[in-house]
Amino acid sequence: MTAATVLVINSGSSSIKYQLVDPAAGTSLASGLVERIGEETGHIEHKYGETVKEIDGPVPDHGDGLRKVLALFDEVGPKLSEANIVAVGHRVVQGGKYFSGPAIIDEAVEQKIRDLCPLGPLHNPAHLKGIDVARELMSNVPHVAVFDTAFFQGLPDEAATYALNKEVADKYEIRRYGAHGTSHQFVSGAASEFLGRDDLKQIVLHLGNGASASAVVNGKAVDTSMGLTPLEGLVMGGRTGDIDPAAVFHLVREAKMSVEEIDNLFNKQSGLKGLTGDNDMRGVRERAEAGEAQARLALDVYLHRLLKYVGSYTAVMGGLDAITFTAGAGENDSHLRAELVARLAPFGVKLDEEKNNVRSKEAREISTPDSTVRVLVIPTNEELAIARQAMTLV
Ligand code: ADP
Repeated sequence: MTAATVLVINSGSSSIKYQLVDPAAGTSLASGLVERIGEETGHIEHKYGETVKEIDGPVPDHGDGLRKVLALFDEVGPKLSEANIVAVGHRVVQGGKYFSGPAIIDEAVEQKIRDLCPLGPLHNPAHLKGIDVARELMSNVPHVAVFDTAFFQGLPDEAATYALNKEVADKYEIRRYGAHGTSHQFVSGAASEFLGRDDLKQIVLHLGNGASASAVVNGKAVDTSMGLTPLEGLVMGGRTGDIDPAAVFHLVREAKMSVEEIDNLFNKQSGLKGLTGDNDMRGVRERAEAGEAQARLALDVYLHRLLKYVGSYTAVMGGLDAITFTAGAGENDSHLRAELVARLAPFGVKLDEEKNNVRSKEAREISTPDSTVRVLVIPTNEELAIARQAMTLV
């Protein structure tokens, strides 16, 4: 009998990413992605062991994309009839106030995800497309929604509440929901395990294209940098992160920009991209090292913001035991880690340069034995986290 597996699906507006995961072993058995759905030519890539099969051609909609993926499983492997899939896990960005954990998808759950579209306009409608077709095509297994916001549903009220007029905030459900919660939960749990302690005050820095920080005490999130939407907080690839909301009024009044234009400006044309033209940390660093002042400034703005979050979260938690770096830049950019920790030197945080420079896919410690705070690098694995959460319900 093959081990129980979970098919994890992350459905975007024009893409479907998927992975077949063995949650007990923590391994990926196959993975792939469908891109450019609805465009003139789409692209599908399916990986199984050493085999990579690619298909170019139109993929008119999500249903057609998933049907082709299921056919690829049977053609390239592993055959679905032999894969022992016990659940399909769907990533959902916005769970609003309804979901503090994973949920088996039925009509009522699907309706709630639909109701939350105004709070997750870039993501939830796209997730629903994937959920609909997957439930139709794989109707013999339970489908589970795993929410990016769930880990932060238990935030203390003082961290979740904006100092916005209460009537308006209540009516329009404006509060801190956070995002990247699946990653923060997975990585903070892995940090606890790595250090062999449950009673930790820790900060997780998820530094990918999207970036967020969280403060976690004894396994529970007490604050996080993303807010009503993933726009708030750290400097990101294309997002401003924190900015005075009055910049919006100013742009409406002076530049006569529309809400859509400002949304696009803040979410896609800002951050590293807006400061340098490049949303990739590697490119920005190369240019800074070559002496380009604007690229150096972008890195300094990025680091200054990170440092402020580390400082404020340490104060909020009344101390700090561990900082963990994760996601693309957090896992791979040793310069970034060194530059942040250098700014924490006055507080006795010390990096072991040699350990920091090791490239590895393993969880590891990069601080010196006498550092006041343990500094870790732990690769995130959102697919595995989703698969494991889905398994808890089936
Ligand atoms: P996403 O948020 O899209 O999941 P990732 O977690 O894959 O993003 O992170 C992507 C980002 O990680 C890239 O934009 C890049 O800036 C950064 N990154 C990846 N590898 C490196 C590296 N070796 N050095 C510096 N930055 C890196």
